[in-house]
Amino acid sequence: MDVGFIGLGAMGRHMARHLQTAGHTMTVNDIRREAATPFLEAGANWGDTPKQVAQAAEVVFTSLPGPADVELVATGAEGIIAGASSGQVYVDLSTNSPVLTRRLHAEFAAQGVRMLDCPVSGGTVGAEAGTLALLVGGDRELYEEVLPLLNCIGDKPFYCGPSGAGQVCKLVNNYISLSLTPLLAEAFSIGVKSGVDAGTLYEAVVRSTGNTASMQRRYPTGLLKGNFAPGFTVNLGRKDLTLGLQLAEDFGVPVQFGPMALAEYAASADRDRGLLDTGSVALMQEERAGVEIRADVEPR
Ligand code: NAD
Repeated sequence: MDVGFIGLGAMGRHMARHLQTAGHTMTVNDIRREAATPFLEAGANWGDTPKQVAQAAEVVFTSLPGPADVELVATGAEGIIAGASSGQVYVDLSTNSPVLTRRLHAEFAAQGVRMLDCPVSGGTVGAEAGTLALLVGGDRELYEEVLPLLNCIGDKPFYCGPSGAGQVCKLVNNYISLSLTPLLAEAFSIGVKSGVDAGTLYEAVVRSTGNTASMQRRYPTGLLKGNFAPGFTVNLGRKDLTLGLQLAEDFGVPVQFGPMALAEYAASADRDRGLLDTGSVALMQEERAGVEIRADVEPR
């Protein structure tokens, strides 16, 4: 199949590679042209603009930082919509605003182009391994039709409902996981300051009701090692919490904890940590408490 892929970053480069190695004919684009080099060397075509990518592909994917980038790439003057024609498919893998998603869905539909929102979960490790969760919104029949492509990039596809439902599910998931990061750091700082080392705390919590998938997966190689190489950047985490809080405001839902978590991401970005991994928000609490949460534990 002729597949277009726009946004070859930390996530997109792995997802596009899985599609290419599955044998699809790729046309790729990124504002950092060098990101396309491995794809071009493996036989992909270069599209100068999203419009050109759409002209060459039956299904176009985007994996872009956030709403402003998606809107520009999808509906800008040189955007996908300018090159797409009736019957084509557009799949947005970015974590994006559900409200913008529904508007884009309607704009593409008016031109006969069918769109799915398909934000992903599982981090760069999951993207590299092809084990991502794919949270899909849009027409169910289109989901079934595109499933063979989605199966190339993740092994946990899940149909969430009509357009925007995938994004709502993703924002709820990230509201939880991103809010837990500073909470976990706070709890561990209490434990370390009370005289129990971080490795013992980790082993105790991982066996108990405080265990979380994200702590278990990320603490041994992340915070406990003092390793904050991204991964999933503080800037992107801040974007997702902001989108989650915007959704709460749009639908009149009172919130307490999300704004506190967002403040930690904003303060981290203000300290020039925006391009570090989201795990680095723990440094805020380490600095306040005057402790380091470090240990040598085996990943499970
Ligand atoms: P990234 O910044 O590493 O990659 C984004 C890519 O888009 C970059 O290569 C950038 O050059 C390109 N780009 C930006 N604007 C563009 C434009 N106008 N035209 C063409 N290319 C453009 O980000 P990422 O970590 O790969 O995340 C991508 C999306 O996936 C985000 O929405 C993010 O929230 C989501 N996500 C990330 C992770 C993670 O662990 N990194 C996990 C799940 C979901």
